[in-house]
Amino acid sequence: MKGGKAVGVKMADGTVINAPKVISSIGTHLTFNHLLGQESKAQKMKNQVEEIKPSASHLCLYIGLNASQEVLNLPQTNFWIYPEGGYDHDATVKNYLEDPDNHPFPVVYISFPSAKDPDWANRYPDRSTIEIITLTNYEWFAEWDNTRWHKRGEEYDTYKERLSQRLLEYMYDYVPQTKDYVETYELSSPLSTKHFVNYQKGEIYGLDHTPDRFEHKELRPSTAIKNLYLTGQDIVTAGIGGALMSGLLTASAILSKNVVKDIMTKES
Ligand SMILES: Cc1cc2nc3c(=O)[nH]c(=O)nc-3n(C[C@H](O)[C@H](O)[C@H](O)COP(=O)(O)OP(=O)(O)OC[C@H]3O[C@@H](n4cnc5c(N)ncnc54)[C@H](O)[C@@H]3O)c2cc1C
Repeated sequence: MKGGKAVGVKMADGTVINAPKVISSIGTHLTFNHLLGQESKAQKMKNQVEEIKPSASHLCLYIGLNASQEVLNLPQTNFWIYPEGGYDHDATVKNYLEDPDNHPFPVVYISFPSAKDPDWANRYPDRSTIEIITLTNYEWFAEWDNTRWHKRGEEYDTYKERLSQRLLEYMYDYVPQTKDYVETYELSSPLSTKHFVNYQKGEIYGLDHTPDRFEHKELRPSTAIKNLYLTGQDIVTAGIGGALMSGLLTASAILSKNVVKDIMTKES
């Protein structure tokens, strides 16, 4: 920052990249809390977005299978699995968060990435992948937060293994043909997500999706700091679609023209 304006980016090794405009795609909390200094405008923005909590922490079980799509015939869709009779989602979430060992996961999402990839078999013959995601709580892992990836200790590994087995049960229930072909699996905890992509509570979708968040005036491409722009899911909404759209909105703000309209009217 110079004279209240963004003038570039300083890398961790001290290298400075000067730039007429700076676009941050790392999320609003990280941008305001970690990239900016103590400037008054930055502090003001920080306080405003501080009110919005992170979205839910998640677990993801990444599974590698040693069989092709021909053998497994995996679905080319996603499964969203809710507890039997659990039509009150808020109640099933609450019960699980209060007593996770004695309540079912309030939602389990199973996705079949390799089955959806038309080029997969050319690159990885006789292999398939599955992902299983569910809700968790960062606090359940907080005691290991200052340990290192893959060196977090036996208790942590045992805890993860127990959770992995619970999730695998869902896969065997819904896609039983996978049972003899699981070669490897690895569970990401909120600490893994923090380690790899810097989401501090292992949140799956950046900021929480509350009505307040969508009314928030700071969550937009332009910021109160001249030449500093935001992009990414936090300024639109969760998911690849939201992140993709945010790029168009930020480009539109910088270029002062409606890039979305340009693309929609462009003949392919
Ligand atoms: C397990 C999982 C499965 C998902 N599945 C789906 C799905 O099936 N469909 C869907 O639509 N969405 C899915 N999502 C959500 C989707 O991945 C996100 O909504 C989307 O990636 C957000 O894009 P983004 O560019 O805003 O942020 P990100 O993709 O999170 O990119 C932010 C980047 O900033 C980097 N970063 C952080 N701090 C710094 C720093 N200080 N300096 C430099 N770089 C930094 C991070 O490493 C990261 O690469 C999934 C998310 C998870 C975690």
